[in-house]
Amino acid sequence: MTVLWAERALLPGGWAENVRVRLSAAGRIADVIAGAAPEGERVGLLLPAMANLHSHAFQRAMAGLSEAKGPEPRDTFWTWRQIMYRFLDHLTPEDVEVIAALVQMEMLEAGYATNVEFHYLHHRPGGAVYDNIGEMSARIAAAAARTGIGLTLLPVHYQFGGCDGRALGPGQARLGTTPEAFARLVEAAEAAIAGLPDAGIGIAPHSLRAVSPEALAFCAGLRPGRPMHMHLAEQVPEIEEVRAAYGLRPVEWVLETLRPDARWTFIHLTHMTEDETRRLAQTGAVAGLCPITESSLGDGIFNGTQWAEAGGRLGFGSDSNIRISLTEELRTLEYSQRLRDRARAIYATRASSTGRVIYEAGLAGGAAAAGRETGAIAPGLWADLCAVDLANPVMEGRAGDTLLDSLIFAGHDGLVRDVWAAGRHVVRDGQHMDRARIIGDYRACIRRLQERL
Ligand code: ZN
Repeated sequence: MTVLWAERALLPGGWAENVRVRLSAAGRIADVIAGAAPEGERVGLLLPAMANLHSHAFQRAMAGLSEAKGPEPRDTFWTWRQIMYRFLDHLTPEDVEVIAALVQMEMLEAGYATNVEFHYLHHRPGGAVYDNIGEMSARIAAAAARTGIGLTLLPVHYQFGGCDGRALGPGQARLGTTPEAFARLVEAAEAAIAGLPDAGIGIAPHSLRAVSPEALAFCAGLRPGRPMHMHLAEQVPEIEEVRAAYGLRPVEWVLETLRPDARWTFIHLTHMTEDETRRLAQTGAVAGLCPITESSLGDGIFNGTQWAEAGGRLGFGSDSNIRISLTEELRTLEYSQRLRDRARAIYATRASSTGRVIYEAGLAGGAAAAGRETGAIAPGLWADLCAVDLANPVMEGRAGDTLLDSLIFAGHDGLVRDVWAAGRHVVRDGQHMDRARIIGDYRACIRRLQERL
């Protein structure tokens, strides 16, 4: 049995000192005692490690390739997407596995313990199905076996090129599924993760642009009780397209037709009216926020203050993986609200500071979105833990909530010293245990890709 002892820890009841945490051989938290004498492995600040609730791993390899002026007068999400489609056409299953391993390693080193992978790259270039329809899913699972990250794999259903049911466009051939093929893909994805003891599955209809209302109902019936994820209301042209097709804005349509509940995570939710914000928050659905990517793509600013006032749940994802940094995701959300409202400490309450509120919100929302027993340092949950360096100067003299505030607003990912995912001690002294080989494989992969691009 692994024994950890932390100078300070964030427990479900609040801050505690001299905390002993014992981990079972199966990777669960066995017991937690505050005020304990030092024993076992000593750490500074012990936090529950968050789930990263939204990622498209392969996009990490094109980070930095879309920042120049393109041929269009104005560079937008849609011109970025053209670059992304051109890029994904060159990826082999081996490439996807190597890139996913790098992404998962970087997530772990940033303090995440779980990768919720919104996985839509399924087929060969041109759209032919691999001998195993779950070939690409198996590559994501193989990366997780290598890095030790907790995995929730979300096979994605992507059927149409738009709300009017038009055929998939060029660049989308590798994504396309019929509902029947998607059901087989889900089974293959389940087989792919069968060897990972703490991994789980979820279902992801891509968006209202890519999935018909009938197929959406079909998806919701495939694995009752497992998480459902969908992109929603990210871009203004998407709002207009859905309104033209269905007579309602995307969130309105979802509220009227889908009747979502706490099983659902909606990614982005950037463009909502006040009424949509309040009503959707009250369903218990999680807002899957990706503040770095939303900034990178110029999406807009999430209606965060009203979502919080209505009791809405939220979590954090790294989406395009242009940069993988948990502290920066949290900081960017809060700062986006401050810039819009010209105010400070937007998420703070009378009881808890800004950093504490958004970190705990991300823990709870991430656990729900991942469908994983995690999100707190409490007996019975998976031992998803993150140890932060208290010796760093920005932490000097800090206690209670200011520990999290200093980590998020004044610190950086380098303060993350150790990470356990389901009890697997995969990051030590700030570095993943297999770092050198994962980076070596990634460099070779990028060199091969450059020859093909
Ligand atoms: Zn996404």
